[in-house]
Amino acid sequence: MNNNRDKRWSLHGSTALVTGGCKGIGHAIVEELASLGATVHTCDLNELELNQCLQQWQELQFPVTGSICDVSSRDDCKKLMERVSAMFHGKLNILVNNAGTAFTKPNVDFTAEDYSFIMNTNFESAFHLSQLAHPLLKVSGSSSIVFISSISGLVGGSHLSLYSASKGAINQLMKNLACEWAKDNIRCNCIAPGHINTPLRSLVLENKEILNKEISLIPLGRIGEPEEVASLTGFLCLPVSSYITGQVICIDGGRSTNVLW
Ligand code: NAP
Repeated sequence: MNNNRDKRWSLHGSTALVTGGCKGIGHAIVEELASLGATVHTCDLNELELNQCLQQWQELQFPVTGSICDVSSRDDCKKLMERVSAMFHGKLNILVNNAGTAFTKPNVDFTAEDYSFIMNTNFESAFHLSQLAHPLLKVSGSSSIVFISSISGLVGGSHLSLYSASKGAINQLMKNLACEWAKDNIRCNCIAPGHINTPLRSLVLENKEILNKEISLIPLGRIGEPEEVASLTGFLCLPVSSYITGQVICIDGGRSTNVLW
């Protein structure tokens, strides 16, 4: 273990891949990891948005590059990892499987297309990118995968069955990889957010009635901010968290652990 306190709280010299970095939680994670000293590559769907983000990061002097990749496409993921490998000389310290999507329907209304879309975007992407990243993470000697799942993967609710199943699958995948890849010095953890103030949630959050009902169930009395998920992600990637692996950590203002509902 490195006993130098400054080095244990720094990501200087580390390389990171964050999926879905143009908005919301992924955007905050890119900035958090870069602030801690990592060199970051991110990917997203929209070229214009990506270029705007890259421009802003360049102005902030963050070492961030980016490419277009639809993580629900196996071919795109393969090309992304080839690019990351070439850029980072075959070594990767951090993989954050963040990109995800959600929509609600009564269970009986979900179609085969809905199933493929949600499962491929949320679960298959994380499964496949972790497989592809494994050789790069292993060769780096000390690495961390953070999966952004959801409290929906831990508790029940209405109209979210597909999303919840995809997030529950991520939680379980992480536990298996934490065991299987511990020998390779790859730590694996899930962050399970509750309500976080992002574009994905903006439609729900615009409805004041639903918003106030949700907030009334949260002990901290407010929804979370993307930066609050990003700081936990940063912590899980730092050497200070070197004995933390196999955990699902809820970040939901205390709701899932304290409120009977
Ligand atoms: P967001 O605001 O929609 O941002 C997600 C980013 O990922 C967007 O830029 C999005 O692009 C991109 N993306 C979506 N599908 C992609 C794909 N197939 N390939 C590449 N990029 C893709 O969402 P968020 O709220 O930050 O969510 C991030 C993660 O946190 C997700 O996994 C979500 O399930 C999880 N989460 C969020 C909350 C919450 O309350 N916000 C709660 C629990 C868990 P487009 O905008 O162009 O689609």
